[in-house]
Amino acid sequence: MTNTSDIKVPEPGARADVELHKQVAVLGAGPGGYTAAFRCADLGLDTVLVERYPTLGGVCLNVGCIPSKALLHTAGVINATTAMAEHGVSFGAASIDLEKLRGWKDAVVGKLTKGLSGLAKQRKVAVFHGKGTFSSPHTLDVAGADGARRIRFEHAIIAAGSQAAQIPLFPNDDPRVMDSTDALTLSTIPGRMLVIGGGIIGLEMATVYAALGTRVTVVELLDGLMPGCDRDLVRVLQKRIAATYESIYLGTKVSAMNATEEGIQVSLDGPEAPATEVFDRVLVAVGRRPNGHHIGAGAAGLAVDEAGFIAVDRQGRTNVPHIFAVGDIVGQPMLAHKATHEGKVAAEVIAGHKAGFDALTIPSVAYTDPEVAWMGITEEQAKSQGLAFEKAVFPWAASGRALGIGREEGFTKVLFDKESQRIIGAGIVGVHAGDLIAETVLAMEMGADAQDLALTVHPHPTLSETINFAAEMAEGTITDLYVPRRRQT
Ligand code: NAD
Repeated sequence: MTNTSDIKVPEPGARADVELHKQVAVLGAGPGGYTAAFRCADLGLDTVLVERYPTLGGVCLNVGCIPSKALLHTAGVINATTAMAEHGVSFGAASIDLEKLRGWKDAVVGKLTKGLSGLAKQRKVAVFHGKGTFSSPHTLDVAGADGARRIRFEHAIIAAGSQAAQIPLFPNDDPRVMDSTDALTLSTIPGRMLVIGGGIIGLEMATVYAALGTRVTVVELLDGLMPGCDRDLVRVLQKRIAATYESIYLGTKVSAMNATEEGIQVSLDGPEAPATEVFDRVLVAVGRRPNGHHIGAGAAGLAVDEAGFIAVDRQGRTNVPHIFAVGDIVGQPMLAHKATHEGKVAAEVIAGHKAGFDALTIPSVAYTDPEVAWMGITEEQAKSQGLAFEKAVFPWAASGRALGIGREEGFTKVLFDKESQRIIGAGIVGVHAGDLIAETVLAMEMGADAQDLALTVHPHPTLSETINFAAEMAEGTITDLYVPRRRQT
């Protein structure tokens, strides 16, 4: 497994050969950090961006969102070409040149990370590569390969992210036991792979490896995949992957793991799982831990909770008023699009603007096949909170576009406040759900109601119409389906 302790850099606290003064020091160049630094520079602040890895972009660009989506695209094409046989067009089995695939994925990442370096230069944001550690409330020491530097700052923005959680006592140093970073290196296509954790990372990587030909087993501790997501949405995904994966064991624990010559032997403890199994590879995807305990927070007087999170207010300010924090390190959800928005807020507050993070919702997307996307409140949450709401579910089996692409298993669910008819939540399962959900997020931010969505002319034939149709169902004006009359307009 990859561990931050593997990074070879001089010890923090080494004598600073150079001391310089900056208005803003940003620690960490992931989506939260680079966005914050660029926005600071655009607002006229002299800014330095500190990053321990040789490229900018953090986990998202280098070993997360971007490479995984490049590989998920490949998986999608493989799955689509296989499915075409049913439409009378056969391509034969995919022949995979792993080195070329890896090279393509790395090239996608390289274009983006180089692009970020260019954007930093254009804005005159200084970039220091090396591990950054606070040495006082106004200084950050950077231990880089080219020497040690001390940055004296007026304001700092911490965007130091998170790292994959490990399960103690497992043979985590065995290269066959992988975290998501290892899995994305695509060193081999294993015959059998166990994915521990049925969350978004586990299921996305399972999608990639299953399409490449690996027999995948998923083990999830809780009694359902993707906790927090609407159960109806998960059911559609689960039905499809259950047909192609070797096994999915819910309510199951991996109680032991041993590295043997034959493979990684795991002991499983669950209602349907066998007692032991041997796998060629194991992916551990059981969540991520914030890096709050790895940045010298104590020297700066920063409060860090036991898990490693740093609490902030709506402006991104920590308990030390001139130090801000954004992204994974401030709390869930650990999503790049939350981090970028928080990064802009922190930069604007430092520049003296009246800014605050006031998003009504942060959408979630699992880029599985089919994709699962949701925003606002889920049906389970609305029920448990006793909210008065109306639900409209449009089945994609009634969408001409979904039928035309052979993907009618999806559906679009929209929840409306019963009294105001305003949209309060939405969930979509189906291809491109991640792109489609954006319309509902905008609708919620704009305070749109069912009538607004129903009367907005959507292009035909598109999957976006399914949102329009769901709203028409709530309005009682739908003609593409027959539903018993509700409100008559
Ligand atoms: P997660 O918390 O989403 O899922 C981890 C899963 O592992 C949970 O279902 C949990 O119940 C299960 N689990 C925990 N311990 C276990 C054990 N011992 N045995 C079996 N199952 C166990 O975490 P993740 O999937 O690792 O993702 C980490 C973070 O990264 C999340 O915040 C996620 O939102 C984010 N992420 C988002 C995307 C995306 O937006 N598409 C992609 C990747 C990661």
